Amino acid sequence: MRSSKPGKKPQPSIPRGTLIGVFDPWRSSLCTCPLKYSLNPYTGCSHFCLYCYATSYIGLRKSTPKKDYRERLLRDINKIDPRYHIDISTSSDPYPPEEEQHRITRWTLEQLLPRGFRVLIVTKGALVARDADILSKGNAAVTMTITTMDRTLAAKLEPGAPSPRDRVKALEKLNEAGVPIGLRLDPVFPMLTDDEHSIREVLEAAAAAGVRFVVTSVYKARPDNLRRVLSAFPELEEEYNKIYRARGERISGYWYPELGLRIRILEKVRAIALRLGLEFATCREGLQHLNTAPSCDGSHLIPTRIAQKGYQRQLDAWLRS
Ligand code: SF4
Repeated sequence: MRSSKPGKKPQPSIPRGTLIGVFDPWRSSLCTCPLKYSLNPYTGCSHFCLYCYATSYIGLRKSTPKKDYRERLLRDINKIDPRYHIDISTSSDPYPPEEEQHRITRWTLEQLLPRGFRVLIVTKGALVARDADILSKGNAAVTMTITTMDRTLAAKLEPGAPSPRDRVKALEKLNEAGVPIGLRLDPVFPMLTDDEHSIREVLEAAAAAGVRFVVTSVYKARPDNLRRVLSAFPELEEEYNKIYRARGERISGYWYPELGLRIRILEKVRAIALRLGLEFATCREGLQHLNTAPSCDGSHLIPTRIAQKGYQRQLDAWLRS
């Protein structure tokens, strides 16, 4: 395996104990996200995706609301700068099945959106459509992850998540309500979901639901998620050992497939996306020249419906402290 040691991105310091933190892409040197916040109402994730990157940091456990969440969020709201948007969520899903009962993501939106904060929802939960009423009134956009339209394959890859068809229906409802929507075709698996037909099915379904932006990346392996993927798809073991371990390269703690393979897969997605009139971006690939979208994370989709007035710009001071 080749080893790559790209320069480290400067990391802002994050005050201890805050719920809304400055987004840290787990020290990925290839992340092109704008400076933004990250907020996870839940710890753990009941979607149990085989390829989840977060499990190597927080373990494999079902979604549980964070302790003292409401008090902590109300306290943090006074510390953040509305120039920067808030991703909900980056290391858990804000719409797991538990949200139906707890409603803490909805409560979060009820706090943030009327105050004019800019919010980007990142989810696989079809339940997000329940909140179309409030999302459509605020500075909010939704990106939905769909990796395949094959229901059986999706049930293996993402056993706790809604079916791809239900996710598309949620996108349709959000679009009808006027909520800007994007697609995360993320990740694409070599030899599993990287064929033209599979990619086209996802992009066409999303485009028909009103999506105008897609971001994508090729599966990057970490020891724990690779173990889970190979135990579900043992037939991939030999090829994945070649793709990831023998020919791949290690970047920021992940095994990446060799660059040529990644470019072939990403260009396939790009060609279909452009044919469908979608904006295109790549995630943590170091291949920004392929992007046609103004942001890689879909934050350019967030509309300004509620203006923030009289706000003290505190983030710079906060980051310096
Ligand atoms: S939805 Fe996201 S956070 Fe949840 S298990 Fe899947 S990849 Fe991990």
